[in-house]
Amino acid sequence: MEEKAVEIILKVCVVGAGAAGLCAARHLAADSKHFEFVVFERQGEVGGTWTYNDRIGLDEDGLPVHSSMYRDLRTNLPKEIMGFPDYPDIKGGAGSCVSHRVILDYLKSYATHFQLRQYIQFQTVVESIKLKDPSSEKWQVRVRNVGNERTDTLVFDAVIICNGHYSDPRIPRIRGLGDFKGLTMHSHDYRYPEFFAGKRVVVLGAASSGIDIATELSRSASHVHLSHDNDRLAGKGESLGFEEVVGIDGFADDKFILKDGTSVAGVDALILCTGYNFTYPFLDASCGVKIDDNYVSPLYKHLVNVEHTSMCLVGLPMTVVPFPMFHMQVRYFISTLRDKSRLPAVGVMLEDSRLKASEKRHAHKLGNAQWAYNDSLARESGVEPLPGYYELGYAAWWNLRKAHLMDYKSFDLFVSADGARVGIVVPRRDEKKQSMTP
Ligand SMILES: Cc1cc2nc3c(=O)[nH]c(=O)nc-3n(C[C@H](O)[C@H](O)[C@H](O)COP(=O)(O)OP(=O)(O)OC[C@H]3O[C@@H](n4cnc5c(N)ncnc54)[C@H](O)[C@@H]3O)c2cc1C
Repeated sequence: MEEKAVEIILKVCVVGAGAAGLCAARHLAADSKHFEFVVFERQGEVGGTWTYNDRIGLDEDGLPVHSSMYRDLRTNLPKEIMGFPDYPDIKGGAGSCVSHRVILDYLKSYATHFQLRQYIQFQTVVESIKLKDPSSEKWQVRVRNVGNERTDTLVFDAVIICNGHYSDPRIPRIRGLGDFKGLTMHSHDYRYPEFFAGKRVVVLGAASSGIDIATELSRSASHVHLSHDNDRLAGKGESLGFEEVVGIDGFADDKFILKDGTSVAGVDALILCTGYNFTYPFLDASCGVKIDDNYVSPLYKHLVNVEHTSMCLVGLPMTVVPFPMFHMQVRYFISTLRDKSRLPAVGVMLEDSRLKASEKRHAHKLGNAQWAYNDSLARESGVEPLPGYYELGYAAWWNLRKAHLMDYKSFDLFVSADGARVGIVVPRRDEKKQSMTP
């Protein structure tokens, strides 16, 4: 009698239905021969951080608000290179830098196109993930439905964690801040500038959100100071609408004391644009994942848990184009689930996981290294690499941003139909646009 090969079906748990979790679902669903899976999402809709919420503090379900979007946010990457390579068109919105609503609509339509909602349990919080017993490679996952408070404990063969990294505010220690009588708020809770009408505001930190928020506030607040230690943003004689000052040293005598010895008095509000902590509150110690000042270890390729390779953490690399990178990370991890021999020896993985950045909090910062990283994921999983227009477009956009930090969002990115050429479209006062090759 002919013997039939038995296919082993792995049960996979996906945490979160933001861009990364949807991407995981899309690729798991494409291989029903090997995988059964469920996505647990604590919110009532897909989209993760792109689901703007007017509220701050707790959401409609009594959970901490997840999204860090502000009302008037426009993307800092051009939509032409933000999409997934197998669903690249982000429709709607004028220009390249679009409203968060356009990205949410895009993610909803990705979920619809690939029929992903059937796999998602909404309003379900993953409360704990632990090894079922020390000798097994099975995961015990406890989930709670926030609608009916029902709790379930389920067992999986593999776990893909896509819980996002922009929800838990990083609050710097500022000497004497406890004596500040005004409002202290993190950018996670900032929504719109009208709230600060007539106020004197200090914005701390000049990464994307800090610059954006200081610019927005300059239309409503009576005075805005952008406090930061980076190179000055304004060219000689250039006016930004806000005043740049150096970083904060402390608060004393009703004044913010700056690092150059000067001070800012009469401040009504301090907005901390100081980044986020990577947190996995649901991971039990048995998972073996350690987090130290945003350095997560031991991870192979910033992704696979070296202690238990049936678990991965998607989306850790910073300063990248996230959606196409998720596409590569997810496909790589799924290929290792199908065939463990794709992973190198433990020693090689541990060496890869070793801290190489000068500061722990930059351990997962890739920048230009993202392209070699994405290519290595493609090569080692035997899938096609990303189309070249992502890298070309990112390089063009990065140069543009450096040269026009304050108004780069008014430019557009052009990508030729065959993806071989990109260009920057320069805005003109009369609204007509002209081309510029980067
Ligand atoms: C202000 C801001 C601006 C940005 N601008 C851009 C941009 O211009 N271009 C760009 O490409 N990217 C941008 N990003 C980056 C953005 O975070 C990524 O593009 C991407 O959306 C991240 O997707 P994610 O799935 O990893 O995380 P998220 O979108 O955060 O999704 C995580 C999901 O997991 C769920 N979840 C978390 N914990 C649990 C749990 N315990 N149980 C169940 N569900 C859980 C959450 O509810 C959420 O739905 C920006 C981010 C922020 C905050």
